[in-house]
Amino acid sequence: MERLQKVMARAGVASRRQCEELIKSGQVKVNGKITTELGIKVDPEADRIEVRGKRIQSERKRTFLFYKPMFVITSMSDPQGRKVVADYFGKIPERVYPVGRLDYDTEGLLLLTNDGELANRLTHPRYEVDKVYLATVKGKPTCDSLERLQKGVRLEDGWTAPARVRLIQAGENRSKIELTIHEGRNRQVRRMCEAIGYPVRHLIRTRLAFLTLNGLKRGDYRELTPAEISRLK
Ligand code: URA
Repeated sequence: MERLQKVMARAGVASRRQCEELIKSGQVKVNGKITTELGIKVDPEADRIEVRGKRIQSERKRTFLFYKPMFVITSMSDPQGRKVVADYFGKIPERVYPVGRLDYDTEGLLLLTNDGELANRLTHPRYEVDKVYLATVKGKPTCDSLERLQKGVRLEDGWTAPARVRLIQAGENRSKIELTIHEGRNRQVRRMCEAIGYPVRHLIRTRLAFLTLNGLKRGDYRELTPAEISRLK
């Protein structure tokens, strides 16, 4: 639920101050009833809001691909004042939300959208959307341990589903593993690697479905094209 004038302003009716004037002067109806109260809260999806007899449009659906840097919180605000994803989207009038989350110390591909249906489609394990991570781990994983990752490992919240695993670079001190998973449990990749004895030192999400970070630098974003959106749905 949100304040009526905020919903009106976001739908492009007028500035928030002007919307307050429209409300006070009795030109706004919510579900067929004139309301002159400024504090009123509405549900932008469910409530019918009319300004001078014309129903306002709901927000335009927008989806962005963001290259989240490390040390940014996947959240719209932080009580401790740390940098959050929303800080990068100040110029976008629509309210977009992160689809899933990346840890504070994980970088990489993060989608933000105000399209609830799309967000659900991308986060529900039923749809088996590929999430690809490149993990730099401590040590040199054995074939056996990589096979364990592939088959599924036991975490405190249960077994993980089978994953695709590729050893990209092997070194005595550090190695790189690419993991493709469909689930999105909290700190999943870090916990999976920890469970086989190779803690993660650096983690980046490089791909989601067919989307990659190509052409973007850390902190950059771009809007998805209509063709990309329909491919995701
Ligand atoms: N798995 C993790 O451990 N961390 C992330 O940020 C994403 C997936």
